[in-house]
Amino acid sequence: GQTKAALDVARANVASINGHTPSGSKEIIQIINDEKEFTKDLAQQINSWGLRDAGFGYDIVAVFGSQSTGKSTLLNRLFGTNFGVMDEAKRQQTTKGIWMCKGSDMNVLVMDVEGADGRERGEDQDFERKAALFSLASSEVMIVNLWEHQVGLYQGANMGLLKTVFEVNLGLFGKRTKDGPNQRTLLLFVIRDHLGTTPLSNLQQTLTTDLLRIWDSLSKPSEVADAKLEDYFDLAFTGLPHKILAADAFESEVQELRKKFVDKTNEGYYFKSGYHKRIPADGVALYMEGIWEQVQSNKDLDLPTQQELLAQFRCDEISSVALEEFNLQAKSRRRPVETGNVVEGLGKLMSSWKTTALSRYDRDASRYHNGVYSRKRAELLAAIDSSLLPLFVGQLKNIHKAVLVEFKSELALGLQGESYNFAEVVSSAKAKSETNFSEGAKEAAAAGNEQDGWSWTEELELLREEVQAVADQFRSDETKKMVNAIERSLKRQIAEPVEVLFIKPTPDIWDSVLITYRDVLLTAESKYLQKAKSFNCTAEENKSSLETLRRRAWTALRTKIGELTSDTVVLGRLRTQFEEQFRYDVHGVPRVWKPGDDIDAAFRKARDETLELIPLYAKINPKDESLVPSFNDPVSTPAPPSDEDIFDFSSSLVIFPETKIIDLSTRFRRDADAYYVEAKRSMVSSIAQ
Ligand code: GDP
Ligand code: MG
Repeated sequence: GQTKAALDVARANVASINGHTPSGSKEIIQIINDEKEFTKDLAQQINSWGLRDAGFGYDIVAVFGSQSTGKSTLLNRLFGTNFGVMDEAKRQQTTKGIWMCKGSDMNVLVMDVEGADGRERGEDQDFERKAALFSLASSEVMIVNLWEHQVGLYQGANMGLLKTVFEVNLGLFGKRTKDGPNQRTLLLFVIRDHLGTTPLSNLQQTLTTDLLRIWDSLSKPSEVADAKLEDYFDLAFTGLPHKILAADAFESEVQELRKKFVDKTNEGYYFKSGYHKRIPADGVALYMEGIWEQVQSNKDLDLPTQQELLAQFRCDEISSVALEEFNLQAKSRRRPVETGNVVEGLGKLMSSWKTTALSRYDRDASRYHNGVYSRKRAELLAAIDSSLLPLFVGQLKNIHKAVLVEFKSELALGLQGESYNFAEVVSSAKAKSETNFSEGAKEAAAAGNEQDGWSWTEELELLREEVQAVADQFRSDETKKMVNAIERSLKRQIAEPVEVLFIKPTPDIWDSVLITYRDVLLTAESKYLQKAKSFNCTAEENKSSLETLRRRAWTALRTKIGELTSDTVVLGRLRTQFEEQFRYDVHGVPRVWKPGDDIDAAFRKARDETLELIPLYAKINPKDESLVPSFNDPVSTPAPPSDEDIFDFSSSLVIFPETKIIDLSTRFRRDADAYYVEAKRSMVSSIAQ
């Protein structure tokens, strides 16, 4: 016993000097000091006791009673705490205030109220009242510690203390009985130095009678005038033998008593859930501080308001922790999205960040005032969603871009070779692009709500337009390619028949040429139209392409005619014709001029008939005028007009201008004259022989 007492003293000294021991769960903290100030370290202390994440899984017990009635001794025995005990030798009081320690191997916060019975020493009744308020607002079980010989002393200090407790309890919980849950507290009377001569049941009877008498004597607010003691308090009684005179019995009964605080299966288990003040462990420090502040400033202590304030504060804190974590996660994907990358599975990622943040919030915040919890949750959700929205929008844009690029290469790939059907290639590429976009967009959109802006229909519409524009460009390019191909074959088809016609020009040569042109063009046009079907070309586009084709055909024809009517060719042609008429007879036999032959007449006939060819060549002038093609004004083409669009049809009909006709005639006449002279000479020589 002596060594133990010495040890207690040593511990008490350390505790009162430092406020608490340096480490471990036995650390003591003076939550309210003798200046009635609340500590700043409670939250940290609760953390280091490992209780922060306990939720509602902890209990609080406080002790009340006269000075030096062995309260601290009892608590230390019951809960394995480390409270300061009065030094027997010096009879020195431990420091006034409220102390807290965690029970060892149990999630119990034990409060030792030191120096509460001011009335015994005729001093600070103010602290007594405040300590009672504070303890009732937080504790489940209030141990009232008293000597056996104090029982029945109605006027004694204990009864004054209990009156205070009842009064403040009514102020705290009285109003809540009708509408709110009945907040109950267990008053556990521990009768110390119980000799056993008076049975516990008698002591219990006496105490109960006294308590009821006190209760009745209270002046109650009118709304709780009929309230009964048992509406607010459960009463329990136990006796403990004399610590020194019956040390063994004392120790063993304390151990029995301890069981009722530790063993949930014990039928006398004290920490019934109905006593819990429903403050989550991570908010206890803040709650107590708030309570003390209200108590200290003598304000009406309105617990529901306190709980709501606590909830607001804690829910904000919990929310911002969750949001911070969320932001850290979201940050990792922000950059890739901003730089234009499609982040694979972004929707899933975003959902999981969101779920993590919300469940983190829910885990801690759902224990607080429900209205506040829900409101702050909605705020958190809105903050999360609004920070995710840019990611979603960015992802949509990036998918859009990627799909468009893919569409282009898909088209390019499909349009290789000869055997493709343009319309089919385009429609399958289109379908693919829409599917790819929709799948990606849906995946991303799943992380949010459509009505909050998480919609992708507009972006899809935009994509469709752009895809269509690309398809149109491809079609226009393809159409051009096709027109070029048709033009090449058309040139070949025109060249040969026209060349043949020019070998022996007849007066209706232009009719034949234009008929050739018409027929070849008709074939080309129908070839175009047939191919254009698979391009889904518009009527406008067809009109434009056909016009181009006609012009190019005409140009080709005109170029061919140009070649066939060059000076050399024409002069050669004239010479041949003249020769054939002048130097050969109708049977194709070369003429030998004899005296008496009318060379002059023959010469004139051949020359004049040949000269008639020049005006025939000079203009494209068929006998059937309807054969002359007509051209429309150039249709609006998507591309700016090129050189080929500068097209002057009527001047293209003229092959030789006037001056050219004169020039050619003159040159031909010179040639013809030479033949004439030669013929004359040959005749003269034949006469001379
Ligand atoms: P507190 O002021 O109520 O916290 O009382 P303490 O725990 O500091 O104890 C005051 C004195 O009473 C100390 O000297 C203890 O050794 C002594 N004490 C503790 N428990 C008992 C008990 O059950 N019976 C008796 N007679 N003395 C006790
Ligand atoms: Mg004490």
